[in-house]
Amino acid sequence: MKKKFRFNTKTIHGGQAPDPAYGAVMPPIYQTTTYAQTTPGGHQGFEYSRTHNPTRQALEKALASIENGKHGLAFGSGLAAIDAVLKLLKPGDEVISTNDLYGGSYRLFTNIFEGFGIKFHFVGMDNVQRVENSINTNTRLVWVETPTNPMMNVIDIKAVAQITQKHNLILAVDNTFASPYLQQPLDFGADIVMHSATKYIGGHSDVVLGALIVNDADLAKRLSFIQNASGAICGPMDSFLTLRGIKTLHVRMQRHSENGRAVAEYLNQHPKIEKVYWPGFENHPNHKVAKAQMKDFGGMLSFAPKGADFNAAIKIIENLKVFTLAESLGGVESLAGHPASMTHASIPKVEREKSGVVDSLIRLSVGIEDAQDLIDDLEQAIG
Ligand SMILES: *Cc1c(COP(=O)(O)O)cnc(C)c1O
Repeated sequence: MKKKFRFNTKTIHGGQAPDPAYGAVMPPIYQTTTYAQTTPGGHQGFEYSRTHNPTRQALEKALASIENGKHGLAFGSGLAAIDAVLKLLKPGDEVISTNDLYGGSYRLFTNIFEGFGIKFHFVGMDNVQRVENSINTNTRLVWVETPTNPMMNVIDIKAVAQITQKHNLILAVDNTFASPYLQQPLDFGADIVMHSATKYIGGHSDVVLGALIVNDADLAKRLSFIQNASGAICGPMDSFLTLRGIKTLHVRMQRHSENGRAVAEYLNQHPKIEKVYWPGFENHPNHKVAKAQMKDFGGMLSFAPKGADFNAAIKIIENLKVFTLAESLGGVESLAGHPASMTHASIPKVEREKSGVVDSLIRLSVGIEDAQDLIDDLEQAIG
């Protein structure tokens, strides 16, 4: 699809032309492993479903379209997508990563890839000078997550891209929290955009799936080689569900952002709340960057109740009735989580608290219910 279409049109039509077989308006679920050949190699571009599948291919085109990219690749999970990026590296190579990072990414970096001789430096990137200071001759990749999970720090992608371009490094951005509706990192100079499509892109808490989007043809070729050679692909049914999610991404994100704002403003004036982390506040340390690089501020926020310890925070979460206590985020339903014991439990306490993930911190994924019902629920739970 041509670039002239705007985002809301791309979510509906990007890569999703009617199916050539029977004109099906929705891409069919091609639940097949293999494809008939007339003579060895005589086929229509599909020979085995690890390599290519028409439903996955429609999804990959849709993903490329909504991220303003040329090439999309879909994987069995967000972590499988990250795993493929790291397989671009060799022993001895070094990576500079955001320090306030999704726990599963941190675990993959330190517990798997450090064992293969790759070295990781975790730095606070709100000051991009720290990125440049950490570069040495072995540095190959810079890994950025923004907004960060769960502290909602915002990193200036354009400023980091200027540094990675100068030093000829690959810049990869985990765009899961923002979704392509709020920000499109390739436009700011990133080389690879990564998504846990399990979250906002899928949007209905019913599919685990990962994605990479790139512009560079050579990088796309290397990543699709890894995708096929390592084999961590997603199936046709999951591809279909994700395509279906993409069709309403813009409508959902608009409501997530409205509700996120309402909940953040409510918590911010609450006498029993110490601090609310949400980039939409003018006094948020990265508000200017957030405003410049994001279309709105989304539905993710964290807060710390006044004087609360581990148990007091858990009690508030247990009191919630509309918000469900659960891992994950980005679905239509509101979720509450306790990073210290859930998503960030695999990060050592000292490391965790250095980045602000204290025992009392509560993270909310604000859904698209009626905002007042969400506020009423918080009101009764905080007490
Ligand atoms: C969930 C998540 C991942 C991992 O994705 P999976 O689909 O669970 O494998 C990576 N990054 C962020 C920011 C996430 O929230």
